[in-house]
Amino acid sequence: MVSIFSHTQLSFKQALFSLFGKGKQHAASLYSEWFRAGSLQGEWAEPQAQGLVKKMISAIDCSLPQQIREHEEGEISKFLLQFSDQLISESVLIPMESGITLCISSQIGCAMGCAFCETGKMGLLRHLSCCEIVQQAFWARFVLKKRIRNIVFMGMGEPFDNFDEVRRAVEILTDEGGFGLGKSRITLSTSGRVDGIYRMINEMDPAVNLAVSVNAPNDEVRQKIMPINRTWNMEQLKEAMRAYCAHPRREIFVEYVLIQGVNDKVEDADQLALYLQGLRVKVNLIPYNPQKRDRFMPPDETHREAFLQRMRGHGFHTLLRGTKGQKIMAACGQLGDVDWRRQYVTIPSRKREG
Ligand code: SF4
Repeated sequence: MVSIFSHTQLSFKQALFSLFGKGKQHAASLYSEWFRAGSLQGEWAEPQAQGLVKKMISAIDCSLPQQIREHEEGEISKFLLQFSDQLISESVLIPMESGITLCISSQIGCAMGCAFCETGKMGLLRHLSCCEIVQQAFWARFVLKKRIRNIVFMGMGEPFDNFDEVRRAVEILTDEGGFGLGKSRITLSTSGRVDGIYRMINEMDPAVNLAVSVNAPNDEVRQKIMPINRTWNMEQLKEAMRAYCAHPRREIFVEYVLIQGVNDKVEDADQLALYLQGLRVKVNLIPYNPQKRDRFMPPDETHREAFLQRMRGHGFHTLLRGTKGQKIMAACGQLGDVDWRRQYVTIPSRKREG
């Protein structure tokens, strides 16, 4: 069987050709039909080719994972897909002014261990394959019937920890013969895997966007909340961001989770502004989303506003994000809540991947 979700149109044609020894054009048409209509009928085939097209359809694996649950809070919704090994991905649909943004997962759990993130507490259970990443987008478009305008890799996982599968998924999602999302509609978000930023520079189309979770004004604070800072410190991260910005089409979305008493003072904004100087960036401030058994709190309105204005005063294009989706554990940093997931499924005992 040929898994349609694991292929671009080109590789799909080749895979079917190697099975049947003919019919490349029919394979290309089947691929387009699947990603544009969400079904495989093959009715467009001329009568003499219908036998071949039927055989091709029966050789294609287009099975989907099972949806465990869909939850809504206002305009935000989160859906959980369960794969054959029982593990579950979480994806979030967020309506924005420009259309719906789909936030997808690249791993189940995450090895990065950021202190403010529920997914980090799970540890890494496993990487998602490109097929499983693409299935999340397909599900949103054809099963939930949402018009997806943007896809952000900000769900569970560090995308650069699973670089090859993520890059392949981006190729499939942006294939004009198939899913057809514009490259500039995709954003990969990293906690600061510097090696991944360099790989993105060298291996991916410059139109694909990069977001970097900086989250701290200096190494001392960052080290406390993001263990990755012990591998790549802020200077090394800045070097990589500078290299990324060397391309005229590239700019970076800097993500900064505001945590009360940790990184939310106006002096922190001054230090952050100094750190970001010389980079082409847009800054997104995200008030911390409280979790269960939590030691962190979001700053109050006054502190959020003061931080925002200070960044703008330093000349940075800065937005303060809303805090939608908290009740359904769909907000930033809340995916992977174990108690919440136990309501729907027995979670297998944790086995970490290297
Ligand atoms: S914030 Fe991102 S990188 Fe950090 S633990 Fe959570 S999912 Fe992983």
